[in-house]
Amino acid sequence: MHMTSLQAAHFIGNQWLPATNGQVIEMIDPSHGVPFATIARGTAPDVDAAVRAARNAFNGAWGRLAAVERGRLLAKLAEAITANAAELGQIESRDTGKPAKQGLADAIACARYFEFYAGACDKFHGETIPYQPGYAVLTWREPHGVTGHIVPWNYPLQIFARSVAASLAAGNACVVKPAEDACLSVLKIAEIALSVGLPEGALNIVTGYGYEAGAALAGHGDIDHISFTGSPPTGTAVAQAAARNHRPVTLELGGKSAQVVFADADLDAALPTLVNAIMQNAGQTCSAGSRVLIEDSIFDKVVAKLTARINALKVGPAFADLDLGPIINQKQLHRVTAFVEEALTAGATLAAQGQVVEDAPQAGFFALPTLLTNVKPTDRVALEEVFGPVLVAMPFRDEAEAIALANGTAYGLVAGVWTRDGARQLRLAKALKSGQVFINNYGAAGGVELPFGGVRSSGHGREKGFEALYGFTQLKTVAIKHD
Ligand code: NAD
Repeated sequence: MHMTSLQAAHFIGNQWLPATNGQVIEMIDPSHGVPFATIARGTAPDVDAAVRAARNAFNGAWGRLAAVERGRLLAKLAEAITANAAELGQIESRDTGKPAKQGLADAIACARYFEFYAGACDKFHGETIPYQPGYAVLTWREPHGVTGHIVPWNYPLQIFARSVAASLAAGNACVVKPAEDACLSVLKIAEIALSVGLPEGALNIVTGYGYEAGAALAGHGDIDHISFTGSPPTGTAVAQAAARNHRPVTLELGGKSAQVVFADADLDAALPTLVNAIMQNAGQTCSAGSRVLIEDSIFDKVVAKLTARINALKVGPAFADLDLGPIINQKQLHRVTAFVEEALTAGATLAAQGQVVEDAPQAGFFALPTLLTNVKPTDRVALEEVFGPVLVAMPFRDEAEAIALANGTAYGLVAGVWTRDGARQLRLAKALKSGQVFINNYGAAGGVELPFGGVRSSGHGREKGFEALYGFTQLKTVAIKHD
Protein backbone atom coordinates (compact mmCIF):
# COMPACT_ATOMS: atom_id res chain seq x y z
CA MET A 1 0.00 0.00 0.00
CA HIS A 2 1.39 3.43 -0.88
CA MET A 3 0.64 5.96 1.84
CA THR A 4 1.72 9.51 2.57
CA SER A 5 2.02 11.72 5.63
CA LEU A 6 -1.55 12.91 5.00
CA GLN A 7 -3.07 9.48 5.54
CA ALA A 8 -2.82 8.94 9.28
CA ALA A 9 0.45 7.08 9.00
CA HIS A 10 3.62 6.57 10.99
CA PHE A 11 6.96 7.14 9.27
CA ILE A 12 9.07 4.04 9.92
CA GLY A 13 12.11 2.95 7.90
CA ASN A 14 11.27 5.51 5.19
CA GLN A 15 7.77 4.07 4.74
CA TRP A 16 4.36 5.44 5.65
CA LEU A 17 2.58 2.77 7.69
CA PRO A 18 -0.84 2.74 9.36
CA ALA A 19 -1.14 1.95 13.08
CA THR A 20 -0.88 -1.81 13.74
CA ASN A 21 -4.28 -1.68 15.44
CA GLY A 22 -5.75 0.29 12.50
CA GLN A 23 -6.95 3.06 14.82
CA VAL A 24 -6.72 6.80 14.30
CA ILE A 25 -6.96 9.94 16.46
CA GLU A 26 -8.97 12.98 15.36
CA MET A 27 -7.07 16.26 15.39
CA ILE A 28 -9.01 19.38 16.41
CA ASP A 29 -8.39 22.76 14.81
CA PRO A 30 -8.12 25.04 17.88
CA SER A 31 -9.23 28.14 15.98
CA HIS A 32 -12.61 26.55 15.11
CA GLY A 33 -12.91 23.79 17.72
CA VAL A 34 -13.70 21.18 15.05
CA PRO A 35 -11.89 18.06 13.74
CA PHE A 36 -9.85 18.61 10.59
CA ALA A 37 -7.40 15.71 10.25
CA THR A 38 -6.56 12.28 11.62
CA ILE A 39 -3.30 10.72 12.74
CA ALA A 40 -2.36 7.09 13.41
CA ARG A 41 -2.91 5.89 16.99
CA GLY A 42 0.43 4.26 17.64
CA THR A 43 0.95 1.69 20.37
CA ALA A 44 3.81 -0.52 21.59
CA PRO A 45 4.10 -2.68 18.41
CA ASP A 46 4.48 0.47 16.26
CA VAL A 47 7.14 1.82 18.60
CA ASP A 48 8.89 -1.57 18.45
CA ALA A 49 8.95 -1.43 14.65
CA ALA A 50 10.34 2.13 14.71
CA VAL A 51 13.06 1.24 17.23
CA ARG A 52 14.04 -1.79 15.10
CA ALA A 53 14.25 0.41 11.99
CA ALA A 54 16.39 2.93 13.87
CA ARG A 55 18.67 0.20 15.24
CA ASN A 56 19.14 -1.22 11.73
CA ALA A 57 19.98 2.25 10.43
CA PHE A 58 22.48 2.84 13.22
CA ASN A 59 24.14 -0.52 12.56
CA GLY A 60 23.87 0.00 8.79
CA ALA A 61 24.08 2.70 6.13
CA TRP A 62 23.34 5.67 8.40
CA GLY A 63 25.79 4.59 11.12
CA ARG A 64 28.57 4.06 8.59
CA LEU A 65 28.32 7.51 6.98
CA ALA A 66 31.33 9.78 7.41
CA ALA A 67 30.64 12.85 9.56
CA VAL A 68 31.06 15.12 6.56
CA GLU A 69 28.43 13.12 4.64
CA ARG A 70 26.00 13.33 7.55
CA GLY A 71 26.58 17.07 7.52
CA ARG A 72 25.90 17.32 3.78
CA LEU A 73 22.63 15.41 4.15
CA LEU A 74 21.48 17.59 7.05
CA ALA A 75 22.41 20.69 5.04
CA LYS A 76 20.27 19.43 2.14
CA LEU A 77 17.44 18.84 4.58
CA ALA A 78 17.83 22.39 5.95
CA GLU A 79 17.63 23.78 2.42
CA ALA A 80 14.57 21.71 1.59
CA ILE A 81 12.84 22.79 4.82
CA THR A 82 13.56 26.42 3.92
CA ALA A 83 12.13 25.86 0.43
CA ASN A 84 8.95 24.44 2.04
CA ALA A 85 8.81 26.99 4.89
CA ALA A 86 5.60 28.68 3.70
CA GLU A 87 3.65 25.39 3.59
CA LEU A 88 5.19 24.14 6.84
CA GLY A 89 4.28 27.43 8.52
CA GLN A 90 0.67 27.12 7.36
CA ILE A 91 0.42 23.54 8.62
CA GLU A 92 1.93 24.56 11.97
CA SER A 93 -0.37 27.54 12.32
CA ARG A 94 -3.56 25.55 11.56
CA ASP A 95 -2.57 22.63 13.78
CA THR A 96 -1.46 24.60 16.86
CA GLY A 97 -3.59 27.74 16.40
CA LYS A 98 -0.58 30.05 16.44
CA PRO A 99 -0.80 33.20 14.28
CA ALA A 100 0.37 32.65 10.69
CA LYS A 101 3.51 34.79 11.10
CA GLN A 102 4.58 32.74 14.12
CA GLY A 103 4.03 29.49 12.17
CA LEU A 104 6.32 30.76 9.42
CA ALA A 105 8.93 31.92 11.95
CA ASP A 106 8.89 28.45 13.53
CA ALA A 107 9.41 26.78 10.14
CA ILE A 108 12.40 29.03 9.46
CA ALA A 109 13.81 28.29 12.92
CA CYS A 110 13.36 24.57 12.23
CA ALA A 111 15.49 24.87 9.08
CA ARG A 112 18.07 26.85 11.02
CA TYR A 113 18.52 24.00 13.53
CA PHE A 114 19.32 21.59 10.70
CA GLU A 115 21.65 24.16 9.12
CA PHE A 116 23.51 24.76 12.40
CA TYR A 117 23.96 21.07 13.24
CA ALA A 118 24.83 20.22 9.62
CA GLY A 119 27.87 22.44 10.04
CA ALA A 120 28.75 20.91 13.41
CA CYS A 121 28.90 17.24 12.30
CA ASP A 122 32.57 17.23 11.28
CA LYS A 123 33.75 19.74 13.87
CA PHE A 124 32.86 17.80 16.99
CA HIS A 125 35.65 15.63 18.35
CA GLY A 126 37.34 14.14 21.38
CA GLU A 127 40.66 14.99 23.02
CA THR A 128 43.97 13.50 24.01
CA ILE A 129 44.98 13.40 27.66
CA PRO A 130 48.57 13.78 28.89
CA TYR A 131 48.87 10.70 31.09
CA GLN A 132 51.80 8.68 32.41
CA PRO A 133 54.80 7.92 30.20
CA GLY A 134 54.17 4.82 28.11
CA TYR A 135 50.46 5.59 27.55
CA ALA A 136 48.55 7.36 24.83
CA VAL A 137 45.09 8.31 26.04
CA LEU A 138 42.34 9.65 23.84
CA THR A 139 38.62 10.27 24.15
CA TRP A 140 36.01 9.55 21.51
CA ARG A 141 32.62 11.21 21.34
CA GLU A 142 30.37 8.34 20.26
CA PRO A 143 26.66 8.51 19.45
CA HIS A 144 24.35 6.78 21.95
CA GLY A 145 22.80 4.69 19.17
CA VAL A 146 19.00 5.00 19.05
CA THR A 147 17.56 8.13 20.67
CA GLY A 148 13.90 8.69 21.59
CA HIS A 149 12.35 12.16 21.31
CA ILE A 150 9.05 13.03 22.97
CA VAL A 151 7.84 16.36 21.63
CA PRO A 152 5.06 18.66 22.97
CA TRP A 153 2.41 20.56 21.03
CA ASN A 154 3.41 24.17 21.66
CA TYR A 155 6.29 24.42 19.15
CA PRO A 156 6.24 21.09 17.27
CA LEU A 157 8.62 22.16 14.48
CA GLN A 158 11.12 23.92 16.71
CA ILE A 159 11.24 21.40 19.54
CA PHE A 160 11.43 18.49 17.09
CA ALA A 161 14.32 20.14 15.25
CA ARG A 162 16.21 21.23 18.34
CA SER A 163 16.67 17.69 19.58
CA VAL A 164 16.47 15.64 16.37
CA ALA A 165 18.91 17.77 14.33
CA ALA A 166 21.50 17.60 17.13
CA SER A 167 20.99 13.89 17.65
CA LEU A 168 21.30 13.07 13.94
CA ALA A 169 24.38 15.29 13.69
CA ALA A 170 25.96 13.28 16.51
CA GLY A 171 25.31 10.12 14.47
CA ASN A 172 22.30 8.67 16.31
CA ALA A 173 19.19 7.24 14.68
CA CYS A 174 15.98 8.80 16.01
CA VAL A 175 12.50 7.68 17.01
CA VAL A 176 10.16 10.61 17.54
CA LYS A 177 6.78 10.65 19.32
CA PRO A 178 5.25 14.05 18.57
CA ALA A 179 2.23 15.33 20.51
CA GLU A 180 -1.24 14.02 19.72
CA ASP A 181 -2.55 17.61 19.77
CA ALA A 182 -0.25 18.92 17.02
CA CYS A 183 2.13 16.89 14.88
CA LEU A 184 1.27 17.38 11.20
CA SER A 185 4.25 19.65 10.55
CA VAL A 186 6.62 17.03 11.96
CA LEU A 187 5.14 14.42 9.59
CA LYS A 188 5.66 16.86 6.74
CA ILE A 189 9.36 17.11 7.70
CA ALA A 190 9.60 13.32 7.34
CA GLU A 191 8.23 13.65 3.79
CA ILE A 192 10.92 16.27 3.10
CA ALA A 193 13.64 14.07 4.65
CA LEU A 194 12.57 11.26 2.32
CA SER A 195 12.87 13.57 -0.69
CA VAL A 196 16.48 14.56 0.16
CA GLY A 197 17.58 10.94 0.60
CA LEU A 198 17.99 10.56 4.37
CA PRO A 199 18.92 6.87 4.74
CA GLU A 200 16.17 4.47 5.76
CA GLY A 201 15.58 4.35 9.51
CA ALA A 202 17.67 7.39 10.49
CA LEU A 203 14.46 9.26 11.33
CA ASN A 204 11.28 7.48 12.43
CA ILE A 205 8.05 9.04 13.66
CA VAL A 206 5.32 7.27 15.58
CA THR A 207 2.22 9.33 16.35
CA GLY A 208 -0.23 8.58 19.15
CA TYR A 209 -1.22 9.28 22.71
CA GLY A 210 1.40 9.87 25.38
CA TYR A 211 0.14 7.09 27.65
CA GLU A 212 0.36 4.60 24.76
CA ALA A 213 3.05 5.45 22.18
CA GLY A 214 4.94 7.86 24.46
CA ALA A 215 5.08 5.45 27.40
CA ALA A 216 6.14 2.60 25.08
CA LEU A 217 9.01 4.72 23.78
CA ALA A 218 10.17 5.98 27.19
CA GLY A 219 10.27 2.45 28.61
CA HIS A 220 11.65 0.69 25.53
CA GLY A 221 14.60 -1.56 26.31
CA ASP A 222 16.43 -0.82 23.07
CA ILE A 223 16.38 2.98 23.30
CA ASP A 224 19.73 4.43 24.39
CA HIS A 225 18.71 7.98 25.33
CA ILE A 226 15.45 9.89 25.77
CA SER A 227 14.88 13.57 25.23
CA PHE A 228 11.59 14.92 26.62
CA THR A 229 9.96 18.35 26.61
CA GLY A 230 6.62 18.86 28.34
CA SER A 231 5.02 18.95 31.77
CA PRO A 232 6.80 18.08 35.04
CA PRO A 233 4.50 15.12 35.92
CA THR A 234 5.00 13.54 32.49
CA GLY A 235 8.73 14.26 32.75
CA THR A 236 8.76 12.30 36.01
CA ALA A 237 6.95 9.38 34.34
CA VAL A 238 9.38 9.41 31.40
CA ALA A 239 12.44 9.57 33.67
CA GLN A 240 11.11 6.70 35.81
CA ALA A 241 10.44 4.55 32.74
CA ALA A 242 13.94 5.26 31.38
CA ALA A 243 15.50 4.62 34.80
CA ARG A 244 14.11 1.07 34.79
CA ASN A 245 16.48 0.46 31.83
CA HIS A 246 19.17 2.77 33.27
CA ARG A 247 18.94 5.07 30.27
CA PRO A 248 19.92 8.77 30.35
CA VAL A 249 17.25 11.43 29.86
CA THR A 250 17.23 15.10 28.97
CA LEU A 251 14.21 16.83 30.50
CA GLU A 252 12.87 20.27 29.60
CA LEU A 253 9.86 20.88 31.83
CA GLY A 254 8.91 24.54 31.53
CA GLY A 255 9.18 27.32 34.05
CA LYS A 256 7.77 30.32 35.86
CA SER A 257 10.36 32.71 34.55
CA ALA A 258 10.78 36.21 35.98
CA GLN A 259 11.51 39.46 34.19
CA VAL A 260 13.06 41.80 36.77
CA VAL A 261 12.72 45.54 36.11
CA PHE A 262 14.82 48.00 38.13
CA ALA A 263 14.03 51.71 38.40
CA ASP A 264 17.00 52.64 36.18
CA ALA A 265 15.82 50.41 33.29
CA ASP A 266 15.27 51.70 29.77
CA LEU A 267 11.49 51.29 29.90
CA ASP A 268 10.91 52.12 26.24
CA ALA A 269 13.11 49.17 25.30
CA ALA A 270 11.72 46.91 28.03
CA LEU A 271 7.97 47.34 27.59
CA PRO A 272 7.32 45.59 24.25
CA THR A 273 9.55 42.73 25.38
CA LEU A 274 7.89 42.40 28.80
CA VAL A 275 4.57 41.87 27.02
CA ASN A 276 5.80 39.72 24.14
CA ALA A 277 7.77 37.40 26.45
CA ILE A 278 4.49 36.16 27.92
CA MET A 279 1.95 36.76 25.15
CA GLN A 280 3.87 35.10 22.31
CA ASN A 281 2.21 31.81 21.35
CA ALA A 282 -0.67 32.76 23.70
CA GLY A 283 1.59 32.11 26.68
CA GLN A 284 2.15 28.47 25.71
CA THR A 285 5.92 28.76 25.80
CA CYS A 286 8.14 26.91 28.27
CA SER A 287 10.42 29.94 28.56
CA ALA A 288 7.55 32.47 28.84
CA GLY A 289 8.32 35.44 31.09
CA SER A 290 5.18 34.91 33.16
CA ARG A 291 6.15 37.06 36.16
CA VAL A 292 7.26 40.67 35.95
CA LEU A 293 8.97 41.90 39.12
CA ILE A 294 9.11 45.70 39.29
CA GLU A 295 11.05 47.97 41.69
CA ASP A 296 8.36 49.60 43.83
CA SER A 297 9.27 53.22 42.98
CA ILE A 298 8.21 52.60 39.35
CA PHE A 299 5.61 49.87 39.96
CA ASP A 300 2.48 51.96 39.26
CA LYS A 301 4.03 53.61 36.21
CA VAL A 302 5.09 50.29 34.64
CA VAL A 303 1.77 48.61 35.45
CA ALA A 304 -0.07 51.51 33.77
CA LYS A 305 2.04 51.06 30.64
CA LEU A 306 1.60 47.27 30.66
CA THR A 307 -2.14 47.74 31.14
CA ALA A 308 -2.42 49.95 28.06
CA ARG A 309 -0.52 47.44 25.94
CA ILE A 310 -2.34 44.35 27.18
CA ASN A 311 -5.79 45.94 26.87
CA ALA A 312 -4.97 46.60 23.21
CA LEU A 313 -4.08 42.98 22.37
CA LYS A 314 -6.38 41.17 19.92
CA VAL A 315 -7.11 37.45 20.00
CA GLY A 316 -8.54 35.45 17.11
CA PRO A 317 -8.14 32.50 14.76
CA ALA A 318 -4.69 31.53 13.55
CA PHE A 319 -5.29 32.61 9.95
CA ALA A 320 -6.30 36.14 11.03
CA ASP A 321 -2.69 36.56 12.19
CA LEU A 322 -3.49 38.72 15.22
CA ASP A 323 -1.49 39.20 18.43
CA LEU A 324 -2.65 35.90 19.90
CA GLY A 325 -4.27 32.75 18.52
CA PRO A 326 -6.29 30.21 20.51
CA ILE A 327 -5.10 27.84 23.24
CA ILE A 328 -4.30 24.35 21.97
CA ASN A 329 -7.41 22.56 23.29
CA GLN A 330 -10.48 22.82 25.51
CA LYS A 331 -8.76 21.22 28.50
CA GLN A 332 -5.86 23.68 28.46
CA LEU A 333 -8.30 26.59 27.98
CA HIS A 334 -10.18 25.49 31.13
CA ARG A 335 -6.88 25.24 32.98
CA VAL A 336 -5.95 28.82 32.02
CA THR A 337 -9.34 30.30 32.96
CA ALA A 338 -9.38 28.33 36.23
CA PHE A 339 -6.00 29.82 37.18
CA VAL A 340 -7.29 33.36 36.61
CA GLU A 341 -10.55 32.72 38.51
CA GLU A 342 -8.68 31.20 41.44
CA ALA A 343 -6.28 34.16 41.56
CA LEU A 344 -9.17 36.67 41.56
CA THR A 345 -10.92 34.75 44.34
CA ALA A 346 -7.66 34.84 46.32
CA GLY A 347 -7.66 38.65 46.10
CA ALA A 348 -5.74 39.45 42.90
CA THR A 349 -6.72 42.49 40.83
CA LEU A 350 -7.54 42.18 37.13
CA ALA A 351 -5.38 45.05 35.89
CA ALA A 352 -5.80 44.45 32.14
CA GLN A 353 -7.44 42.12 29.68
CA GLY A 354 -7.30 42.04 25.87
CA GLN A 355 -10.20 41.05 23.63
CA VAL A 356 -11.32 38.32 21.27
CA VAL A 357 -12.19 39.85 17.88
CA GLU A 358 -15.90 39.93 17.09
CA ASP A 359 -15.81 37.65 14.07
CA ALA A 360 -13.75 34.92 15.76
CA PRO A 361 -15.26 31.42 15.39
CA GLN A 362 -17.62 30.72 18.33
CA ALA A 363 -16.12 27.32 19.12
CA GLY A 364 -12.45 28.43 19.08
CA PHE A 365 -10.44 27.98 22.29
CA PHE A 366 -9.69 31.64 22.97
CA ALA A 367 -8.18 32.87 26.24
CA LEU A 368 -7.91 36.57 27.05
CA PRO A 369 -4.46 38.09 27.58
CA THR A 370 -4.51 39.04 31.24
CA LEU A 371 -2.47 41.13 33.68
CA LEU A 372 -2.85 40.40 37.39
CA THR A 373 -1.63 42.57 40.27
CA ASN A 374 -2.02 42.22 44.06
CA VAL A 375 -0.84 38.64 43.77
CA LYS A 376 0.90 37.18 46.83
CA PRO A 377 4.20 35.36 46.22
CA THR A 378 2.61 32.26 47.76
CA ASP A 379 -0.43 32.25 45.41
CA ARG A 380 -0.57 29.37 42.95
CA VAL A 381 -0.62 31.78 39.99
CA ALA A 382 2.73 33.20 41.20
CA LEU A 383 4.33 29.78 41.58
CA GLU A 384 2.95 27.45 38.90
CA GLU A 385 3.12 27.45 35.13
CA VAL A 386 -0.25 28.57 33.72
CA PHE A 387 0.77 27.92 30.11
CA GLY A 388 -1.53 30.67 28.93
CA PRO A 389 -1.45 34.46 28.33
CA VAL A 390 -1.42 35.44 32.02
CA LEU A 391 1.16 37.89 33.35
CA VAL A 392 1.59 38.47 37.07
CA ALA A 393 3.14 41.82 38.16
CA MET A 394 4.69 42.03 41.63
CA PRO A 395 6.67 44.84 43.31
CA PHE A 396 10.03 44.49 45.07
CA ARG A 397 11.86 46.82 47.50
CA ASP A 398 15.50 46.12 46.72
CA GLU A 399 17.88 43.85 44.87
CA ALA A 400 17.83 41.19 47.58
CA GLU A 401 14.05 40.92 47.47
CA ALA A 402 14.08 40.85 43.66
CA ILE A 403 16.47 37.89 43.71
CA ALA A 404 14.47 36.08 46.40
CA LEU A 405 11.24 36.51 44.43
CA ALA A 406 12.80 35.55 41.10
CA ASN A 407 14.29 32.40 42.65
CA GLY A 408 11.20 31.70 44.74
CA THR A 409 9.55 28.99 42.63
CA ALA A 410 10.41 25.35 42.04
CA TYR A 411 11.50 26.20 38.49
CA GLY A 412 14.62 27.73 36.94
CA LEU A 413 14.54 27.95 33.15
CA VAL A 414 15.01 31.57 32.07
CA ALA A 415 15.32 34.97 33.75
CA GLY A 416 15.32 38.50 32.34
CA VAL A 417 16.87 41.56 34.02
CA TRP A 418 16.37 45.19 33.02
CA THR A 419 18.88 47.65 34.50
CA ARG A 420 21.59 50.03 33.26
CA ASP A 421 23.86 49.29 36.24
CA GLY A 422 26.68 47.05 34.99
CA ALA A 423 27.71 45.66 38.37
CA ARG A 424 24.09 44.84 39.19
CA GLN A 425 23.73 43.08 35.81
CA LEU A 426 26.56 40.74 36.79
CA ARG A 427 25.35 40.24 40.38
CA LEU A 428 21.91 39.26 39.12
CA ALA A 429 23.30 37.01 36.39
CA LYS A 430 25.21 35.13 39.10
CA ALA A 431 22.43 35.05 41.69
CA LEU A 432 19.53 33.95 39.50
CA LYS A 433 18.92 30.20 39.52
CA SER A 434 18.13 29.49 35.89
CA GLY A 435 19.63 27.96 32.77
CA GLN A 436 19.63 31.23 30.84
CA VAL A 437 19.81 34.86 32.01
CA PHE A 438 19.06 37.71 29.64
CA ILE A 439 20.17 41.24 30.46
CA ASN A 440 18.23 44.08 28.81
CA ASN A 441 16.51 41.61 26.49
CA TYR A 442 14.54 38.41 26.80
CA GLY A 443 15.37 35.34 24.74
CA ALA A 444 17.99 36.96 22.46
CA ALA A 445 15.67 36.27 19.50
CA GLY A 446 15.80 32.55 20.24
CA GLY A 447 19.15 31.87 18.56
CA VAL A 448 19.75 28.15 17.97
CA GLU A 449 23.40 28.73 18.95
CA LEU A 450 22.48 29.42 22.59
CA PRO A 451 22.46 26.42 24.96
CA PHE A 452 19.09 26.03 26.64
CA GLY A 453 17.74 24.03 29.56
CA GLY A 454 16.77 24.30 33.17
CA VAL A 455 17.73 23.71 36.75
CA ARG A 456 15.57 22.20 39.53
CA SER A 457 12.00 21.40 38.35
CA SER A 458 12.68 22.95 34.93
CA GLY A 459 14.66 19.82 34.14
CA HIS A 460 18.22 18.91 33.34
CA GLY A 461 20.49 18.55 30.34
CA ARG A 462 21.10 21.18 27.69
CA GLU A 463 19.75 21.42 24.17
CA LYS A 464 20.58 23.92 21.43
CA GLY A 465 24.04 25.19 20.53
CA PHE A 466 27.16 23.08 20.33
CA GLU A 467 26.53 22.02 23.93
CA ALA A 468 23.66 19.74 22.84
CA LEU A 469 26.12 17.50 21.02
CA TYR A 470 27.65 16.50 24.36
CA GLY A 471 24.25 15.29 25.53
CA PHE A 472 23.61 13.30 22.38
CA THR A 473 26.95 11.48 22.62
CA GLN A 474 28.79 9.50 25.24
CA LEU A 475 32.48 9.71 25.91
CA LYS A 476 34.72 6.70 25.51
CA THR A 477 38.22 6.84 27.02
CA VAL A 478 40.83 4.78 25.18
CA ALA A 479 44.19 4.17 26.93
CA ILE A 480 46.92 2.59 24.81
CA LYS A 481 50.08 1.27 26.51
CA HIS A 482 52.86 1.55 23.98
CA ASP A 483 56.08 1.11 26.05
P1 NAD B 1 2.56 16.46 28.45
O1 NAD B 1 3.81 16.71 29.16
O2 NAD B 1 1.68 15.40 29.04
O3 NAD B 1 2.86 16.05 26.92
C1 NAD B 1 4.10 16.27 26.26
C2 NAD B 1 4.42 15.06 25.40
O4 NAD B 1 4.56 13.91 26.24
C3 NAD B 1 3.35 14.68 24.38
O5 NAD B 1 3.96 14.18 23.20
C4 NAD B 1 2.61 13.55 25.07
O6 NAD B 1 1.96 12.67 24.17
C5 NAD B 1 3.74 12.85 25.78
N1 NAD B 1 3.33 12.04 26.92
C6 NAD B 1 2.25 12.20 27.73
N2 NAD B 1 2.21 11.23 28.68
C7 NAD B 1 3.29 10.44 28.47
C8 NAD B 1 3.83 9.29 29.13
N3 NAD B 1 3.22 8.74 30.19
N4 NAD B 1 4.96 8.75 28.67
C9 NAD B 1 5.61 9.30 27.61
N5 NAD B 1 5.15 10.37 26.94
C10 NAD B 1 4.01 10.94 27.37
O7 NAD B 1 1.83 17.83 28.31
P2 NAD B 1 0.27 18.15 28.08
O8 NAD B 1 -0.60 17.30 28.95
O9 NAD B 1 0.02 18.10 26.65
O10 NAD B 1 0.22 19.64 28.64
C11 NAD B 1 -0.01 19.90 30.02
C12 NAD B 1 0.93 20.92 30.62
O11 NAD B 1 2.28 20.61 30.25
C13 NAD B 1 0.78 22.36 30.14
O12 NAD B 1 -0.19 23.04 30.83
C14 NAD B 1 2.14 22.92 30.40
O13 NAD B 1 2.26 23.38 31.71
C15 NAD B 1 3.04 21.77 30.19
N6 NAD B 1 3.74 21.80 28.89
C16 NAD B 1 5.01 22.25 28.87
C17 NAD B 1 5.69 22.31 27.67
C18 NAD B 1 7.09 22.81 27.59
O14 NAD B 1 7.53 23.20 26.53
N7 NAD B 1 7.84 22.78 28.66
C19 NAD B 1 5.09 21.91 26.49
C20 NAD B 1 3.78 21.42 26.53
C21 NAD B 1 3.13 21.37 27.75
